Amino acid sequence: MELLGLTLPQLQQICNEMQLPAYNAKQIADWLYKQRVCSIDDMTNLSLRTRAMLNERYTVGRHEPMDVQQSADGTKKYLFAVGEHYVETVYIPEGDRATLCISSQAGCRMGCRFCATGLGGYRGSISAAQIVNQILSVPEASELTNIVYMGMGEPMDNYEAVLQSTEVLTAEWGMAWSPRRITVSSVGIIATLKRFIEESQCHLAISLHNPFAEQRQEIMPVQQRYPIAAVINLLRQYNWHGQRRLSFEYTMFKGVNDSLLHASELVRMLRGIPCRVNLIPFHPNPKAERFQPSSEATIARFRDYLSAHGLTATVRTSRGQDIEAACGLLATNQVISYKF
Ligand code: SF4
Repeated sequence: MELLGLTLPQLQQICNEMQLPAYNAKQIADWLYKQRVCSIDDMTNLSLRTRAMLNERYTVGRHEPMDVQQSADGTKKYLFAVGEHYVETVYIPEGDRATLCISSQAGCRMGCRFCATGLGGYRGSISAAQIVNQILSVPEASELTNIVYMGMGEPMDNYEAVLQSTEVLTAEWGMAWSPRRITVSSVGIIATLKRFIEESQCHLAISLHNPFAEQRQEIMPVQQRYPIAAVINLLRQYNWHGQRRLSFEYTMFKGVNDSLLHASELVRMLRGIPCRVNLIPFHPNPKAERFQPSSEATIARFRDYLSAHGLTATVRTSRGQDIEAACGLLATNQVISYKF
């Protein structure tokens, strides 16, 4: 079993079961999350006997990426093995920011029609250890300024592991990151989304993509079970006026969701909610040929309409498109060469 990803109370329980002094738990947490060691033998303030006992039952759980591809714009896409499967993690340097986009599942069962991950199907959930490992084991780990849970998978479909990983990231005994530097995205799985809003302080990004129910269902099957109107109703029950940010992700598809009618419905739908809308240029995906990107002019017109009607709207810069690291393109193509 792996120690990485465990919370302080879980480490205390392990120490208790192994009849070790309670203070060992805090020491182990320090080694895992502050010193970032890769081996139990490196936990040198634990006695040799304690390290031997831990080695009999546990490993640290650190695993280097198996491969990396680098984009002309500096973006890097890492491939991590997670058991029998693989996930991708994208490092995005931009000025004084260094963002890591991490995966929360191997594949995804949400089946969004425009997304390479969704079209590739679901392979399995991953553990808190495998989530935290992505953050600690990229070579740029010490440079990171922001973490976004926007890689492969739906975070609210692997809720316990995702919440546990955010606890490790933000707790004083853990990596002590501010939750304001962490954004978790979701298509809106209401039961776990409600828990996330109440149990975490991290920023939240909702994948909206179309304000009209029938049209959204055509591109996001999850709409049938969790209608966006119900998601918005849930969000309206909470206070978003503080420092915690609520944003809506809106990928722009030519002729599908980029008209001013869509913009106007979006304004109506989000009226009164303190939030921002991130417009995302679509990256053509050979697995979803029916979708084409909206033109820059169309995206600018859409953004200007939202801004003129009181919504904060930004257009996300495209990064890593040449290595298929951009939004919606993660699909571990390399898996094919590794596995067969
Ligand atoms: Fe899953 Fe996100 Fe892709 Fe939808 S867009 S299939 S939720 S990874």
